[in-house]
Amino acid sequence: MKGRQMSDRQDGDGALDAAEPEKASSRGQGGSGASGPDREGPAQGASREGGEVSVAADDRRAGGPDPYDGRSRRQAAVALVLLGLATVAAAVLTTPWQVLTGGPPDPARDFTAAQIARAQVFDAAMSLPSYLSLAITLVFAGVLVATPFGARVLDRLKGPWWLRVILGVVVLTAIVELLRWPLGVWSETLLRDYGLSVQDWGSWTADRLKNLAVEVFLTSLMLVALVALARKVRRWWIPAAAGAFALTVAASFVYPVVFEPLFNDFTSMRQGPLRTNLMAMAERDGVPVEDVLVADASRRTTALNAYVSGFGATRRIVVYDTLLRAPQPEVELVVAHELGHAKEDDVLHGTLIGGLGSALGAILLYLVFGALRRRAGVTSIADPRAVGVVMGLMTLGTLLMSPAQNLISRHIEARADVHALDLTRDPATFVAMQRRLAVTNISDLSPDAMEYLLYASHPSSPERIAMARAWAKLNGAPVP
Ligand SMILES: [Zn+2]
Repeated sequence: MKGRQMSDRQDGDGALDAAEPEKASSRGQGGSGASGPDREGPAQGASREGGEVSVAADDRRAGGPDPYDGRSRRQAAVALVLLGLATVAAAVLTTPWQVLTGGPPDPARDFTAAQIARAQVFDAAMSLPSYLSLAITLVFAGVLVATPFGARVLDRLKGPWWLRVILGVVVLTAIVELLRWPLGVWSETLLRDYGLSVQDWGSWTADRLKNLAVEVFLTSLMLVALVALARKVRRWWIPAAAGAFALTVAASFVYPVVFEPLFNDFTSMRQGPLRTNLMAMAERDGVPVEDVLVADASRRTTALNAYVSGFGATRRIVVYDTLLRAPQPEVELVVAHELGHAKEDDVLHGTLIGGLGSALGAILLYLVFGALRRRAGVTSIADPRAVGVVMGLMTLGTLLMSPAQNLISRHIEARADVHALDLTRDPATFVAMQRRLAVTNISDLSPDAMEYLLYASHPSSPERIAMARAWAKLNGAPVP
């Protein structure tokens, strides 16, 4: 599934992990939309004596009890534990932990010394901007959460509360993006040096701005809803949790038809032997596929990839046009892997679990905000100035969840690989395809522990090749 999030990748998963290093950005989708609590402040928050603590006049809300009284907190804590258990159970029970794995990966068996060296040098070069960008993201989120910086910035904004929420999202996103921009330029320069990117700066900038626009749009939607709830409902965490779930599911559903077309043109794969074979394979597999789409990825990259996104009426299998230059049997293997995702409804399951995680995030936000509000200089989530703390918490929550997401994703990817082998019974072509992907995308052939934890949504190519050999032994096929 990608995921992205929504953010980048919502959930689709590239079948092959393309080298897309810079993606480690901050937001995660799925974030919660949460919200914040209380406003205890002076009954009339009109004046702004302390500067940071009181609320502007139009934020005034009916007095009423503190949303953080002991009873409310206990209820939220109980809901958090119950929903947390349900989410963990859903994730654990739907993950194929027992999927086939191979022996120890051995890059030297399938890649030349020069290929291995090139991958190492490329990985080392990309790691720098990538980790620096991650560090900026983390530090900025920490500042938003633990200091009144966000509230001070938001304090300068004028207008009705909802407008200040939106402007707050825009301004804070712009600040962190400006800090990370030079690192993005650095990464892009490396991608060009290695021949992976074929974009010019105009289209690179347009892509980046469109990504930001999507991020700002989804975050604003979440935060306006959150602040609105907090202004009306004392136990806002209940509707916020339901809303976060619904928004995550809705965004994943419409992602392929609303957001993906912002970045690529998609056309039906043209008639010919390849299409005929792919459709016949889907039919043999019992997966209803009406079409295979081709994305014009070649206008920005030379990397090879394919993915499934959406579910139900929006589900689609997409291959990069760059992949069509590969020998036909290899393309069929890639699509067989994607059929595995379609057959298991991986995107739908990932989305539902992501939705539960978002709901959990909303409840957690309520509880955590109570402890942070003094430091952050905002008394209530009903105050638009709370936008900074909420964004910081969403970023931290998303980053904290990514190792678990990657762990689950790697097992789901391995299951799709096994599906591709079961369907094609062709481990030799599988290995050839993995080699081509790894060499063309300059994939990391031996990710270190940190990279594995933070970025590896797929097993490494040598691991996938080792698994194909194990499959061949198990099924009496010649071992490639
Ligand atoms: Zn996949």
